[in-house]
Amino acid sequence: MPVTVPLSTGRVIRRYRAAATRAVAVTAIAGCSLSVLAAADQQTESNPTDTLAAAPVQAAPVANAAPVAVQVPEFVPPQVTDLLNSFAQDHRPRTVRPVAGPLSSGFGMRWGAMHAGLDFADGFGAPIAAVTDGTVIEAGPASGFGLWVRVQQDDGTIGVYGHMQDILVHVGQQLRAGDVIATVGSRGYSTGPHLHYEVHTDAGPIDPHPWLAGRGLDVGYSQD
Ligand SMILES: [Zn+2]
Repeated sequence: MPVTVPLSTGRVIRRYRAAATRAVAVTAIAGCSLSVLAAADQQTESNPTDTLAAAPVQAAPVANAAPVAVQVPEFVPPQVTDLLNSFAQDHRPRTVRPVAGPLSSGFGMRWGAMHAGLDFADGFGAPIAAVTDGTVIEAGPASGFGLWVRVQQDDGTIGVYGHMQDILVHVGQQLRAGDVIATVGSRGYSTGPHLHYEVHTDAGPIDPHPWLAGRGLDVGYSQD
């Protein structure tokens, strides 16, 4: 049954419907067979006289556009929402660069001592992202690191983040790759703001560089 609504409301609803059906169209591109709904979107775009908005106003005639009763979903069905969510879940990055700044020091002997991780230079307060999914197993003061966060990572290794200015997570917190866990600082044995990142197996620290590369993340090379 036609519903009488003011022109402005009709426009808003039509815009909303177009947005909703575009979301459906994106899903269709992702492999779901929803071409019928996508076609409905096109009809809505080309024909301003959809069933809801056309009732109270005389819309300007559009060439070659006969009035058509377009069946547009009132809402995005839960199944489509679930599909969009699972698509996003399946395609989100599993390995994320922890800070935007460049690699400033690699893994290995440095100044006569073992440097057991990678250093990334960045400014005070820059966000530090979780490299992988995981669980926070330690967060607080630590000798040498100033402050550290230790994360049980998705492959069983432990990620260690050091020298932060502020910690934004707590023990037991579940992380997804890319979650901001802390900010860059220069606490502990540090000569300037940077993130120190280590990866530990049961046998001890490993070079994070090839480990990250194996997960598809190239963090570049430092000058040292
Ligand atoms: Zn370091």
